[in-house]
Amino acid sequence: MVRPTHAVVDLDGLAVNYRTIRALLEAGAVGSAPRIIAVIKANAYGHGAARVARALEREADARSALPPMLACADIEEGVELRAAGVKAPILVFGALSVSDLDGVFAHDLTPTVSSPFAARALDQAAAARDVRLRVHLKIDTGMNRFGFRHDNLRATLPAVLRSPHLVVEAVYTHFGTAEDRAHPLFERQRTRFEAVRAAAAELGLAGVWWHAANSAALLRDRRTWYDAVRPGLLLYGVAPPPLDPDLRLRPVMSLRSRVVAVKGMRPGETAGYGGCFVADRPLRVALVPAGYADGLDLRLAGRGTVLVGGVRTSILAVSMDSMVVDVTGVDADPGDEVVLLGPQKADLIAARDVAVAIGTVPHEILCRIGTRIERTYNS
Ligand SMILES: *Cc1c(COP(=O)(O)O)cnc(C)c1O
Repeated sequence: MVRPTHAVVDLDGLAVNYRTIRALLEAGAVGSAPRIIAVIKANAYGHGAARVARALEREADARSALPPMLACADIEEGVELRAAGVKAPILVFGALSVSDLDGVFAHDLTPTVSSPFAARALDQAAAARDVRLRVHLKIDTGMNRFGFRHDNLRATLPAVLRSPHLVVEAVYTHFGTAEDRAHPLFERQRTRFEAVRAAAAELGLAGVWWHAANSAALLRDRRTWYDAVRPGLLLYGVAPPPLDPDLRLRPVMSLRSRVVAVKGMRPGETAGYGGCFVADRPLRVALVPAGYADGLDLRLAGRGTVLVGGVRTSILAVSMDSMVVDVTGVDADPGDEVVLLGPQKADLIAARDVAVAIGTVPHEILCRIGTRIERTYNS
């Protein structure tokens, strides 16, 4: 049984996007193109991490390219990927608590070391198992999130480099404002990371790879590509607004439903909780069985649109399990397809436009698509 509201995940589209990013990197790189670290945290932004990971592995195999590295948020996500048979190297971005380190060793995950404390804990855990553990070091260049502060590495880095059971494979940072060309932090972070490279070399760190670019930085500045790039959003076919690159990306996720009822509203009547929408003229409205429990934000009322019969219709009210849309003058009947995200006829509801309409980022639009929405895959 498939609920009327369901997601269709276009894995062919994902592969196309991966190739498009690869081609962009190959065309723009000075020397060899950077490796892609495919970011599949948060269940691959709601697309289904195991399916996405296996599709990316197949894509790399088919083209005998360097296997992609995958990245997830925590050890548990990495363990799930391994349980699904994923063989590619997996980088874990997030904070490591001492209690869950087992998974790193049992499932061959590459942890991020973000603090002197984490370095000591991992070194001891590796010593106890008599292994040497490959890690990536995270540098905080200005987001004030995970990472060693960029400005006192002389105090913190030597101990990490001396850890007998840790092998530093890579060093990375993360940008907080790469999509915003007007914000000065991006350039500040970039130059700080350059200074980190110089300082690390002086401290004897050599032969490691460097990475920094999320989707926005990748699009915006080739100098951030280094040895690897970490796109998430772009893989799913969405460019981070306001950047509008000339890339043919295919939106991977579409969210579809069906009209369950059509009715009339009279002027002065309201729709939704709190009487949030007031009709100012006679309207024909359709009820769609998808609401905020499915990840369709309440703020879409009055701001969002859906496609019915290829026509854009306004969302009037959103509740937990349903929404009311304005189909006045539109040929809409019970059973007709409604597109909440993705293409229908010549039009497209793009995650980036939805995000802009309600003042958030496309990542949130995708990740929030609820667990009760069944995903179907096209390959
Ligand atoms: C989520 C994340 C990314 C990917 O970001 P996009 O904007 O989706 O490309 C890259 N690096 C880190 C550390 C992240 O947490």
